[in-house]
Amino acid sequence: MKIAVVGTGYVGLVSGVCFSDFGHEVVCVDKDADKVARLKSGEVPIYEPGLDELIAKNTEAGRLSFTTDLTEALEGAEAAFIAVGTPTRRGDGHADLTYVMAVAEEIAQTAKDYIVIVTKSTVPVGTNRKVKQVVQKANPDLDFDVASNPEFLREGAAIDDFMRPDRVVVGVQTDRAADVMAEIYRPLFLRDFPIVTTDLESAEMIKYAANAFLATKITFINEMAALCEKVGADIKQVSKGMGLDGRIGNKFLHAGPGYGGSCFPKDTKALARIGQEHAAPMQITETVIKVNEETKRRMIDKLLDLCDGSFNGKLIAVLGVTFKPNTDDMRDAPSLSIVPALVGGGAKVRVTDPQGRHEGEALLPGVNWVEDAYKAARKADLVVILTEWNEFRGLDLKKIARHMNTPRLADLRNIYSVKDAKRAGFERYDSIGRAPLE
Ligand code: NAD
Repeated sequence: MKIAVVGTGYVGLVSGVCFSDFGHEVVCVDKDADKVARLKSGEVPIYEPGLDELIAKNTEAGRLSFTTDLTEALEGAEAAFIAVGTPTRRGDGHADLTYVMAVAEEIAQTAKDYIVIVTKSTVPVGTNRKVKQVVQKANPDLDFDVASNPEFLREGAAIDDFMRPDRVVVGVQTDRAADVMAEIYRPLFLRDFPIVTTDLESAEMIKYAANAFLATKITFINEMAALCEKVGADIKQVSKGMGLDGRIGNKFLHAGPGYGGSCFPKDTKALARIGQEHAAPMQITETVIKVNEETKRRMIDKLLDLCDGSFNGKLIAVLGVTFKPNTDDMRDAPSLSIVPALVGGGAKVRVTDPQGRHEGEALLPGVNWVEDAYKAARKADLVVILTEWNEFRGLDLKKIARHMNTPRLADLRNIYSVKDAKRAGFERYDSIGRAPLE
């Protein structure tokens, strides 16, 4: 089957490449000519483990190509996936649907034969019906269906998540569209991965409900961590004891500096907005958004305390700026609020990240980038671990402490312990939800 995927970002590129690996003929479209030129020349514009090999394999096999030209992509295609961004709209928290609707209209004006227009972008309930209206208005003669197919992949593990999903969700209105979607995902059907087929609204809702639930779980444990610090409990032990309960599960129970990334912040805000618009307030989600902001602020207080009340004149090393390991994505990363607070407070900040520099340079002005943690920590007054890259999990802490001005460590991912820090010669160590070394 021939498939067009519009938008070659984290989701569109991974989906398109994986569909081609299923054996489909896939044309990926992006309006960013530079991105398409890079992809055509074999360069991968984002960092996602394993993606480069899969692109090379499927391009060589003649199943995968890239273009800026929608006409070429839609020629003979039975499905067109919309995988463009749906960022938070300025001012009201609503998901900005400008890009989705623009693509829907372009597809309507370009497609000639029956096609399923599939929304993969995360979109508020009711969007697929609006897409249908936009397409009908732009091209009343076009024979088409719409389908909602939200994506659940995690950056950093995107290919494995796409190839081995917990489930695929497909919202449709007709059997014809359901058949096309089943054909696309047939390799997953054959391997018994569950496909949940629903109406359009339920599919749209599943994505927001899932993300809001996960954001709630993270925020819950972060709030518990704040209490643990006051009462002398250890959040790692609490998480373990809770997570072993099969009804709770151990995933998303790691305390940290607050959730970030390209999805949770914008999707929780959008869900809160959808609730307000339908007079069904999402009070839990609204509180989660608020508590997450407080969690991020609490991190600044922690760092301030480790700097004896002032960042001014201190040399601070920040390890990791991406919102999580194994990605170069910086969208809504905790570093974007923490690093400017350090710089704004008068600190000299050295930063290192295995993949974040390319994005981070523009987003974090006034910092010095260095190659590794050891260079970052030299003569520093404080080292802050912000992202749990593998590179920072096995550090020679003794070496780090020995070369620091004042050996102090803020471990905002709970990678190490007071014992590790003490043994390495740190004079102070603080983490999340555990007693500090002071
Ligand atoms: P992204 O910003 O990385 O990519 C979007 C791409 O769309 C860009 O390359 C942009 O140039 C392109 N684009 C925009 N308008 C276009 C047009 N008219 N024609 C062609 N190309 C166009 O976004 P992303 O992170 O891949 O997210 C896409 C959607 O998937 C969002 O709705 C997001 O919420 C959802 N999602 C993202 C993730 C994730 O981990 N990133 C996971 C699940 C769902």
